[in-house]
Amino acid sequence: MAIILDGNALAKRIRIHVKKRAILLPAPPELAVILVGNDPASQVYVDNKRKDCEKCGIISHVHHVDATLGEARLISLIHQLNTQSEISGILVQMPLPEGYNPQNVLHAISPEKDVDAFHPLTVGNFYLGSTPTFLPCTPAGVMELLDAYEIDPQGKHAVVVGASNIVGKPMATLLLARNATVTTCHIYTQNLASHTRNADILVVAVGKVNLITADMVKPSAVVIDIGINREGDTLRGDVDFEAVKKIASHITPVPGGVGPMTRAMLMRNTLNAALGRSRD
Ligand code: NAD
Repeated sequence: MAIILDGNALAKRIRIHVKKRAILLPAPPELAVILVGNDPASQVYVDNKRKDCEKCGIISHVHHVDATLGEARLISLIHQLNTQSEISGILVQMPLPEGYNPQNVLHAISPEKDVDAFHPLTVGNFYLGSTPTFLPCTPAGVMELLDAYEIDPQGKHAVVVGASNIVGKPMATLLLARNATVTTCHIYTQNLASHTRNADILVVAVGKVNLITADMVKPSAVVIDIGINREGDTLRGDVDFEAVKKIASHITPVPGGVGPMTRAMLMRNTLNAALGRSRD
């Protein structure tokens, strides 16, 4: 039976660490979160961020603006936050309502405050391996989980299913940076199982319940399920957890695996943003 990778417990340890360091700063870190419109899932995510900040000694400011605000005024709000020295990090909750170009909005955030790590300068530094301050939260959270359980990617065959800009691609890059041999699969990959069965470390970030069944997993593989699928009030991942946990060596549950780690990494990035400024 697989060891369950406990993201809740590790995220709690990281929050405690962030709080200990935040308290030592001359002023607490401050995170500005902008929520545009009334998407219910986004409201839950923003509220969770507010609660995480409270636990970490980070001051949060939620700017909840109407969907009719318009891109130009949203960008001018971001510019204003860029100039406020007490604000360490700025985050715009995605997805934006129709009529907004997410590229224009994300590019307006000052790279020094880009705690979600979506600005092209941050992304460029990340792919070049130029030790950026900010790492993309979900892939960074997965690497923390692997490290906490002493799973070393070096020399392993890592297969990442999903190739989005915010999850799959940076996930593959971080595994490559740790000397794994990486295969990336996506919607056009033929015979997905022939790839996943070769994985020592299998990371799945698609958004499709039970995409990965037990017959697609190599015995003793490490299985990381990033997928979040809502079924009524229940959250499910992309992996058939009950069947796969019987053959994997390690597996993340959904919920309680990667999700809390993503949130913890945002807190860490916000602390890092404040540390960067305090080093000036
Ligand atoms: P996305 O829709 O942007 O990308 C999905 C990727 O999956 C694409 O690269 C696509 O080619 C690939 N794909 C789709 N169907 C496939 C198939 N049948 N076989 C192989 N590949 C397939 O999604 P995303 O933003 O990368 O998110 C992926 C999942 O991760 C979603 O469920 C999302 O909710 C979840 N997510 C979780 C966290 C977390 O903290 N746990 C964070 C971000 C995203």
